[in-house]
Amino acid sequence: MNLPRGYISYSQINTYQSCPRKYYYAYIEERDVPLNDKILLGVAFHSTLEEFFNKKIENKSVKKVSLIKTFRNQFEILCKGNEVIWSGSREDVEARGIRFVDYFMVHLAPVLNPLMVEKELQVEMDELGVTLKGIIDLVEKDYTITDFKTTSSKWSNSRMKRSHLQMVIYRYLFEKSFGTTNPELKLKILYSSNKSKIGHQEVVLKSVDVNLEKMIQIIQYVVDNIQKEIFFRNESYFCGFCDFRSICFQSK
Ligand code: SF4
Repeated sequence: MNLPRGYISYSQINTYQSCPRKYYYAYIEERDVPLNDKILLGVAFHSTLEEFFNKKIENKSVKKVSLIKTFRNQFEILCKGNEVIWSGSREDVEARGIRFVDYFMVHLAPVLNPLMVEKELQVEMDELGVTLKGIIDLVEKDYTITDFKTTSSKWSNSRMKRSHLQMVIYRYLFEKSFGTTNPELKLKILYSSNKSKIGHQEVVLKSVDVNLEKMIQIIQYVVDNIQKEIFFRNESYFCGFCDFRSICFQSK
């Protein structure tokens, strides 16, 4: 079997690693699933950041109040255009998103120097015969690469460690595309369980921590398994949060 999208990406690798059957439902059968409020909030927040960084690249000033308006508009568009599964009230989710924007403007935005935003990169990995694709949230003027996440609780150390693969892939894509090295890879995780409790964590991966050999091994393992159509169930605690659990358990 060929790769369903014609390329491999971190998101596909992450899905396959969490559960090959989940990958099958998401990428081979392309089953539609309702949008959950965590994803909705993350998409609206990322669109808001994109506007902020684009304006900053054009040397235009952005006021917090106008960025919050952008977030509200994005949130509304996503709510109207999708069936949404709410884990809390819509008002609470929107209020958390506004707090994320407010926190971002006060604590993170002042020190960021954007060069590229939402940059899509694609590289042919000749050693594996596959195309690797990724979209980098932010590249700064010193080539530091940053990805942003929004979440409802702090990440554990093991969760942070698992995120290294995404950052190594982004570094690989960047270096292959531009032929230059970047000093640091950063992941900024904004967390808030409710609108009054908010903070952020930062994962910084330095060049010395980057293991390209391991990254290639993981990509090879996932691509080989997809091509051999190996899509077993990986039943775990996370089945309780899986978008495909009803179809998965029905077909057992
Ligand atoms: S319910 Fe569990 S086993 Fe089934 S696809 Fe989802 S994660 Fe995999």
